[in-house]
Amino acid sequence: MNQENRLDQSSLISWYHDNHRDLPWRRTKNPYLIWISEVMLQQTTVVAVLPYYDRFLKRFPDLKTLANADLESVLELWSGLGYYSRARNLHKAARALLAEGGFPKTAAELEKFPGFGPYTSRAVSTFAYQEKVGVLDGNVIRVLCRRFGLPVRHWLPKERNTLQIKADQLAQTETPDLLNQAMMELGATICTPTSPACLLCPWTSRCLARQESKTTEWPLKKPKMNFETWVWQPEISIYKNQVAFVQNEKMPFLKGQWVFPGVIKKVKVKPKNFDVKHGITRFDIFIQIKKKTRRSNQIKSVKWVALDQVKRINPTTLIQKILQQGLK
Ligand code: SF4
Repeated sequence: MNQENRLDQSSLISWYHDNHRDLPWRRTKNPYLIWISEVMLQQTTVVAVLPYYDRFLKRFPDLKTLANADLESVLELWSGLGYYSRARNLHKAARALLAEGGFPKTAAELEKFPGFGPYTSRAVSTFAYQEKVGVLDGNVIRVLCRRFGLPVRHWLPKERNTLQIKADQLAQTETPDLLNQAMMELGATICTPTSPACLLCPWTSRCLARQESKTTEWPLKKPKMNFETWVWQPEISIYKNQVAFVQNEKMPFLKGQWVFPGVIKKVKVKPKNFDVKHGITRFDIFIQIKKKTRRSNQIKSVKWVALDQVKRINPTTLIQKILQQGLK
């Protein structure tokens, strides 16, 4: 550990002591509470997460309650947060963790559970058990690239590893949990994407991006995604107040989820006529609804769901939008 590293650690931790936001998951060392917050925070902002976090923990206060709950009620409480595969993995992992006797204490062991990628595993192990590992999220990547002058293509695993090594080095301290929280907080509140408040930063005198006037260039920007256009013709088949669902095996979005049966195709030209338009990650989806009022025997592996229970089996905005439109 060199002198520069030590200076970085001590100045950052002392800045954190004086400036951090008081958030519920920072007041605990309980790995379950930390885990839930980290999964929620991966998809939205702190302010948006707070009410979901409270509601979720009221219903599922511990690992056992979550593991013993049915998936539908977990999805229902996740409704509005998006990325439902995370809620499914959360539920699956809760069962697996309970079966193994609880949370292991290292990131390497946590990574064996569903949905525990490098980020979540490290966040839980360092915040709950003070493991000396660096936690790399978007905020930390930005701070490291700027402070240490690292214009790496961080979206490529090999180059991202340079940043992981740097984060791991910085985490070699008596309080790795605080160091990691501090780095995330610095990125979220001071070293922001477009207008970093460098004069308030504990690293201002040693930051290479600031010295070289590169704060707008570092970190490098990930090339834009290629968007795909898809046309989906879902069949809204309603019979005795129930609607037909099948498990999605063909569409590249809503994978594995219960969806309306129908035809899907990728197209080059956006259609002019459609009932609903919706975007999921890199997919632009144009929906042309087909209505049926008879029970169809032609749909294989169909599940009939009462109209007021649809949200329980698939709470995504897309399915709700299609259903609302289809019922008009
Ligand atoms: S000095 Fe500015 S650019 Fe450098 S780490 Fe601090 S806030 Fe970010």
